[in-house]
Amino acid sequence: MDEFYSSIQRDILKYIDPGIINCYQCGKCTAGCPLSDIFEYKPNQIMMLVQAGRIESIINSNSIFLCLSCEICSSRCPQDVHIAKIMQYIRNEAWKVDKIKVASIKRFYKLFLKEVGITGRSYEPGLIAGLNLISGKLLNDMDIAVKILGKRKINLIPEFVKDRKGISRIVKKYL
Ligand code: SF4
Ligand code: SF4
Repeated sequence: MDEFYSSIQRDILKYIDPGIINCYQCGKCTAGCPLSDIFEYKPNQIMMLVQAGRIESIINSNSIFLCLSCEICSSRCPQDVHIAKIMQYIRNEAWKVDKIKVASIKRFYKLFLKEVGITGRSYEPGLIAGLNLISGKLLNDMDIAVKILGKRKINLIPEFVKDRKGISRIVKKYL
């Protein structure tokens, strides 16, 4: 196994959550996960892949990048495995060394960070417009956007934080 992938497994077993060895595949984490239907690997499968040292398969799939970090999985686990924390750790490590294979996910992360670097916070209309522009599908999801805007769930005018330069400096480290 590539040293990069084996070091992630080692760190999880040693520091992030040694309790992962107690996972007995009951599936309760997956049953509660709101995104398990669109994950290429379900949360319980990811735990099995970590145990088996198949970190590369996890990073090459979409699951850890779509995870909301909502922690439902972790709160349901009868063995107290910190599933969300493990997934977040793998995601962060993959991002640091640019190992993300799913192109659309990479684009989303980069654009999101760029926007945070400019305004100091997330700006959904800009993110949607930017993604549509990059993908060449200008009207993608516009029907949903109109409904959301109509209900004032998101603001068309971006809000800026006071210390934009400070945020921008932090963001630049990850771009
Ligand atoms: S709920 Fe816990 S023990 Fe059950 S499959 Fe998920 S991680 Fe494993
Ligand atoms: S933290 Fe991620 S994996 Fe866990 S339930 Fe939420 S979306 Fe699913």
